[in-house]
Amino acid sequence: MNDNLYVGFSKVDISPVGNIPLMGYHRPSDSTGILDRLYCRTMMMKKNNITLVIVTIENVGFTVDFTKKIRKQIAYELKLTLAQIMVCFTHTHSAPTTISDDKRVNHYCESVETSVHKSIREALHHLEPAEIGWETIECKVGVNRRIHQNGYAVMGDNEKGPVDHRVPILKVVNRDSKNLFGVFLRIGVHANVLKGDNLQISGDLPGWISTHLEKILGCPILTSIGAAGNINPRWRGQPKELSYIANLVVEKVKSKIPKIKIESDILIRFQSNELPFQTIKLSSYQKAENLAREAMKNWGVDTSKWLAEIKNELKNDLFYQLLSMEIQTFQIGKAFISGFPAEIFAETALKISEKLNNNLFFFGGYTNGYTGYLPSKEEFAFGGYEVDWNPVVYGAVFGRLLPLEKETEDRIISYFKNNFGGESQ
Ligand SMILES: [Zn+2]
Repeated sequence: MNDNLYVGFSKVDISPVGNIPLMGYHRPSDSTGILDRLYCRTMMMKKNNITLVIVTIENVGFTVDFTKKIRKQIAYELKLTLAQIMVCFTHTHSAPTTISDDKRVNHYCESVETSVHKSIREALHHLEPAEIGWETIECKVGVNRRIHQNGYAVMGDNEKGPVDHRVPILKVVNRDSKNLFGVFLRIGVHANVLKGDNLQISGDLPGWISTHLEKILGCPILTSIGAAGNINPRWRGQPKELSYIANLVVEKVKSKIPKIKIESDILIRFQSNELPFQTIKLSSYQKAENLAREAMKNWGVDTSKWLAEIKNELKNDLFYQLLSMEIQTFQIGKAFISGFPAEIFAETALKISEKLNNNLFFFGGYTNGYTGYLPSKEEFAFGGYEVDWNPVVYGAVFGRLLPLEKETEDRIISYFKNNFGGESQ
């Protein structure tokens, strides 16, 4: 390979065989069939001695450990470092759970691992000389979902709340024929158009955007999720809402692609850092009981496992957790795709772009594993699901039992300022 850019894409089916427990919404029963199939997709890029790999997986999100296991295997196979492999979950709420003692779930996880490797090998096999171009469009299909009432955040459409409407589109064409052969997208909206009454497997919004565009454009389309922690789709409910909202995005992307200009002499680069973060400090078991009671009242979930873990850890002292969390950034030509293993809020991504004076910097969540939410500094005091109850509901499963402390967002913004602050356009 010479100085030229080579890019390869692939798409592999990861739909479960048979019915299986689902993740999200605490549905009491297993899936009852398949509305649309689930996929993992890979985009691999090589230029000089640099290789970058982005894999999108249609699932709510695996644990950081399980995702790391997959990344390590890819790294070993391709002789790369973990920092060069980014796994983006689409966060669809209509896919199998990956954490359970159920042997169907274990079997499913193993089959996803196998499929990801198949996808990597196919992308490698499909590498072709390429040219790329970026363009950002606005798709106003998301709405802020945190309304403030009497000092607390409750779920509902907050028309005045921040939303990151940017949808960056990366177009990849063959260097010689100029034929389109792959696209990467990012959208800052939750993949929960279908609600808890849906028991069918579905890729939800990102899945529908990808498969509809694939039918039209005839090549793999990777749709990743950006800053969607506090953003719901503007329309939710049934497959007809899903079709409607996906089509709004598909039409805009489709008409933009032919107009995207090819960049010359592009640079590809990666940076990954594990930073120490900390949760809030819990000072009494009574506070934990209050949180558990509220979470139970609002979300109807069994909080006994969480309370038992807190009781075990708390003893007489304060309880908090120290965590090492990865921030990973790929520069691909003039744009930056960055990710964190949590659900970040829209305003966080917007603040980072503003601080860097770079509208092509896209910080997103759902990257390299799941650990719950990262609320913005402003929203921290308003509590609610994303701040207070998500750790109670999912903490015992994903390993973070309490919210990240209020200063976390500021620390992440400073990290970007220190590491990418000199690169504004
Ligand atoms: Zn979520």
